[in-house]
Amino acid sequence: MANPTPDISVIVPVYNELENIPELLKRIHQTFQNAELSYELILVDDGSTDGSRESYPEFIAPYPQATVVLLSRNFGQQPAISAGINRARGKTACFIDADLQDPPEVIPDMLKELAAGYDVIYGKRTQRDGETFFKKATSKLFYKSLSWLASTEIPRDAGDFRVMNRKALDALKALPERRRFLRGMISWIGFKQKAFEYERHSRFAGETHYTLTKMIQFAAIGITSFSTAPLRFVTYSGLLILSLSLIASIVVIAVKFTNPDYFLPGFTPIILLLMFFGGFQTFCMGLVGEYVGRVYDEAKGRPLYIVSQILQSHDPDE
Ligand code: UDP
Ligand code: MG
Repeated sequence: MANPTPDISVIVPVYNELENIPELLKRIHQTFQNAELSYELILVDDGSTDGSRESYPEFIAPYPQATVVLLSRNFGQQPAISAGINRARGKTACFIDADLQDPPEVIPDMLKELAAGYDVIYGKRTQRDGETFFKKATSKLFYKSLSWLASTEIPRDAGDFRVMNRKALDALKALPERRRFLRGMISWIGFKQKAFEYERHSRFAGETHYTLTKMIQFAAIGITSFSTAPLRFVTYSGLLILSLSLIASIVVIAVKFTNPDYFLPGFTPIILLLMFFGGFQTFCMGLVGEYVGRVYDEAKGRPLYIVSQILQSHDPDE
């Protein structure tokens, strides 16, 4: 490497993106060449099974700026980005998806905004092509609920596409949690942050890896990371139900004494109440379980990801 500290470290989580990688490498290289900026590109392969792992050496050979970190299995997009963060040496850093939904060509403009006195510039989507109505609607609902529940303001219509300076990156690195919701963690660190509007395109090739199950897991991590309001909801509704039952018990006892025959045909309210409380209690236990599971995960203290191999490393010790 000619420049030991590149102007920017570009971090890309990659999972089964064989057809996108050559185009991504080309567009990133052209972008920084045109902008006369030095860069390092850290592709973190999150356990791809589509043959990408065999093709990387050939793909990256023309680009000495690129490194590939091969993780030992599929850990998820957020741990993959974290693996990139831990290796980044640049004066600034950028997170971008491998599918070219976020155009690399706007990064130099984002860097200009950053240089104007900000610590984080986050991409805000003005338009989202190629995403289903269902995805857009659920995502909207999720961010609405999150902003209602969480004490940290997490920007809407923003993914992980971001540019930040060293100060923000180091602050982010210092957060030790294992279940990660990076877009929230970046808001949490504070500093001066600003939105950068851009149009999000359709994928260059391939399909989304976020299935409904993965989206629900991601949403649960987001909410449990930034809010304990659901636990408070459990406490308050428990209190409310307890008060209502107290009133009901008084009524029942009073009726029992004044009109002893009244309750004989009363099967319906009993079964309805039983079903309601059964369901409600199970739901509450599940909610509490989400947080307990999280504590358990953090307590295990396992690493976030495991690296199996590094291709074209810039670190002389490796
Ligand atoms: N990704 C990953 N690990 C996963 C799933 C996705 O590293 O388990 C990467 C993927 O290759 C892409 C980025 O995360 O670069 C975003 O994924 P995707 O495009 O599938 O999500 P969407 O844009 O549909 O939300
Ligand atoms: Mg995508």
